[in-house]
Amino acid sequence: MSTNWSPDSWRSMPIRQVPTYPDANKLAEVEAELSELPPLVFAGEARRLKSQLGDVAAGKAFLLQGGDCAESFAEFHADKIRDTFRVLLQMSVALTFAASCPIVKVGRMAGQYAKPRSSDSETKDGVILPSYRGDIINGINFDEKSRIPDPERMIKAYNQSASTLNLLRAFAQGGYANLQQVHKWNLEFVGTGEAFEKYQDLADRIDEALSFMEACGINPNSKALHSTDFYVSHEALLLRYEEALTRVDSTTGDWYDTSGHLLWIGDRTRIKGEAHVEFLRGIGNPLGLKVGPTTNLDELIEIIDVLNPNDEAGRITLICRMGAGIIEDKLPPVIKRIEEEGRTVVWSSDPMHGNTITAVNGFKTRPFEDVLAEIRRFFRIHRSMGTYAGGVHFGMTGQDVTECTGGAEAITEEKLADRYRTHCDPRLNASQSLELAFLIAESLKEERVERAKELKAAASS
Ligand code: PEP
Repeated sequence: MSTNWSPDSWRSMPIRQVPTYPDANKLAEVEAELSELPPLVFAGEARRLKSQLGDVAAGKAFLLQGGDCAESFAEFHADKIRDTFRVLLQMSVALTFAASCPIVKVGRMAGQYAKPRSSDSETKDGVILPSYRGDIINGINFDEKSRIPDPERMIKAYNQSASTLNLLRAFAQGGYANLQQVHKWNLEFVGTGEAFEKYQDLADRIDEALSFMEACGINPNSKALHSTDFYVSHEALLLRYEEALTRVDSTTGDWYDTSGHLLWIGDRTRIKGEAHVEFLRGIGNPLGLKVGPTTNLDELIEIIDVLNPNDEAGRITLICRMGAGIIEDKLPPVIKRIEEEGRTVVWSSDPMHGNTITAVNGFKTRPFEDVLAEIRRFFRIHRSMGTYAGGVHFGMTGQDVTECTGGAEAITEEKLADRYRTHCDPRLNASQSLELAFLIAESLKEERVERAKELKAAASS
């Protein structure tokens, strides 16, 4: 248990990215109501994820973390949840096949409602209004009323997260994730392009393997084939919400934030001596830290030590989001420093947040080739430095949106307007996500082959 910490100790620290609620009494009432509501996840689940991330840190598993940039109230629908879950399953199958190691699946889902903003205000046609900060805080419509922070939105986000998790648990454990359904996952999506064909091939091979196993007498209905572990995560940005859902675990006596299994600190709030680091140091969940190109390495080490004083494997995932153009300059010094200091972390790549551009028609987008380039370079750098590229983190949806340019469908800047539905940053659509998974799969396969060669060489020398 952390010393001098309580779920509200962050309140006396400097804080950024906070909304100003006009009605303090209403805010206090909502926080009190939330703190009486049931936990969304259990401490034991968060510990299991931490242990699986410990395997990732040791190079024995791979982390796949993805989902909406920002979940919204308007787009809440069972089909949307299913589609995102299904694409994550498809990606995970492609990765498992290539890497021959367990894939730890974590959704940016069931809680990803708060967004950090680069500016407190937004200007349109000369009108200045407070920025949209995510549906848990205010509304996206550009009018004065929508932009007023409303505490009741926290209750709605909680309820929506509870329903999302309920459905995800049913999908993960109730038969939808059954490996015998690999073909069906593809058929449900009107996908086109090379990635879907590759997936079809893969599904055929899995079917063959399952038939072979069955012929050998191995039970195809075993739990390992029928269900999967699936976890949820979000940025712990709105600390009032996080505090209200933080509870003592009856098994260990430790505090856990029961709003999600894994919580991360964003690049803008990862600051020593400030509220977000203070809050996260006291909870037992596995934590993510976004690491951008301006990260101060001395401060990063200090923060890691505050959050993980005993260097527990699986506690810290560094989610690196440098940008394709500068990753080769910016990532190696971070790896070198962490290695020199001997800290145990999971290395994950977020190839989205460092590659945002504004298209000529004003849409915020991400060129798919930059996303792929950052991932390729991430793997190459780790390979050359002898460290393990253990995971990926990205904004995606199972829907057929047009938010990132490029990919097999060659989405142009002009086509962005066709189906641009994100509430904040652009996401990969289903076929771009699958294409990305096959690229990662290739890198993981190369890694496996290289490792096998090294082991063989070591054994014969
Ligand atoms: C995010 O992941 O939604 C995000 C805003 O990322 P970052 O903190 O890396 O900018």
